Amino acid sequence: MNKINVNDILTSYDKENLTIATVCSHSSLQIFNGAKKEGFKTIGISVGEKKKFYDAFPLGKPDEFFIVEKYKDILKYTNELREKNAIVIPHGSFVEYLGAEKFLTFNIPTFGNRDVLLWESDRGKERIWLEGAGLTMPMEIKNPKEIDMPVIVKYHGAKGGKGFFIAKTYNEFLRRIKKDKPFTIQEFVMGTRYYLHYFYSPIQNNAYKLSKGSIQLLSMDRRDETTIDEVQRLGSIAELEEIGIHPTFVVTGNIPIVMRESLLPKVFDMGAAVVEKSLNLFGGIIGSFCLETVVTEDLEFKVFEISARIVAGTNPYTFGSPYSELIQPDMSTGRRIAQEIKFAAKNKLLDKILT
Ligand code: AMP
Repeated sequence: MNKINVNDILTSYDKENLTIATVCSHSSLQIFNGAKKEGFKTIGISVGEKKKFYDAFPLGKPDEFFIVEKYKDILKYTNELREKNAIVIPHGSFVEYLGAEKFLTFNIPTFGNRDVLLWESDRGKERIWLEGAGLTMPMEIKNPKEIDMPVIVKYHGAKGGKGFFIAKTYNEFLRRIKKDKPFTIQEFVMGTRYYLHYFYSPIQNNAYKLSKGSIQLLSMDRRDETTIDEVQRLGSIAELEEIGIHPTFVVTGNIPIVMRESLLPKVFDMGAAVVEKSLNLFGGIIGSFCLETVVTEDLEFKVFEISARIVAGTNPYTFGSPYSELIQPDMSTGRRIAQEIKFAAKNKLLDKILT
């Protein structure tokens, strides 16, 4: 695979007139809103037609729509996007719609380090990274016959938790498993979930300092997942399972949350360790990332996943969170990304945050 030479592309860019582009989905309202607040022009890449609901949100509407027939066609229009000095902000849906391989060859300067994809999309590599950073992950059960506690079974590449199930015994596992799909079995961690939204700047030293650059904690959320989060309205899970109704983990929204303050030192320790390890493994994660955690009754964190870009859980905070308000009023993750690009453009450091 040819690596994109960002510096080559950037030489033709008018750095005073950069445009921020993303796909119209996921966290795009927040990204456009944040970019506008920092004075950028914005482009919304949309499939088929301009999405009508943006008219109802003028402060989150892109200045221009870039219509493609299907997402993969974005690759055909890179010249047009370059003429507009476009910098792309990838979000979860962007990478999913384009496909990981195509995303890696997408010839437009992109915020963040694309190499991180190889480390987060492979559950084995993700474990090497996170455990290598000293984080505790849920135990993995290699042999289903050894299930002797509640476990969660996850299909590889399943979107939004689709198809995941809980089993408490080997027999229950056998009844539910679809053997044609690759899967992982994890200890089901009992506790409360916190999805922690960090921002790592390799080029600014004004927050929680690391060996290079610094991290901020911008916000945290809890995902609202159906049907697991509301299933008790109908009866206990055991009762429902008896009649063949099983809880599911499909994300439908996000709920704002804060954490007891005494846990924050640990939150920063974990974020810092993940970044330091990423610097050793693949040149470093850049910008927003999210650690998905469960806090146990012993107040220990178990981290079950990392997302290496802006997550939809930042959407409750278009106008800031209880944490980002303590950094700068009215600062969302989308705005923080725009600020980083502005700072880098001003200081000729764009190649340090774009790939
Ligand atoms: P994931 O695709 O790994 O983000 O998992 C989807 C959802 O399953 C999460 O948002 C959690 O609600 C739940 N989950 C995942 N892993 C675990 C675990 N090891 N223990 C408890 N719940 C989990």
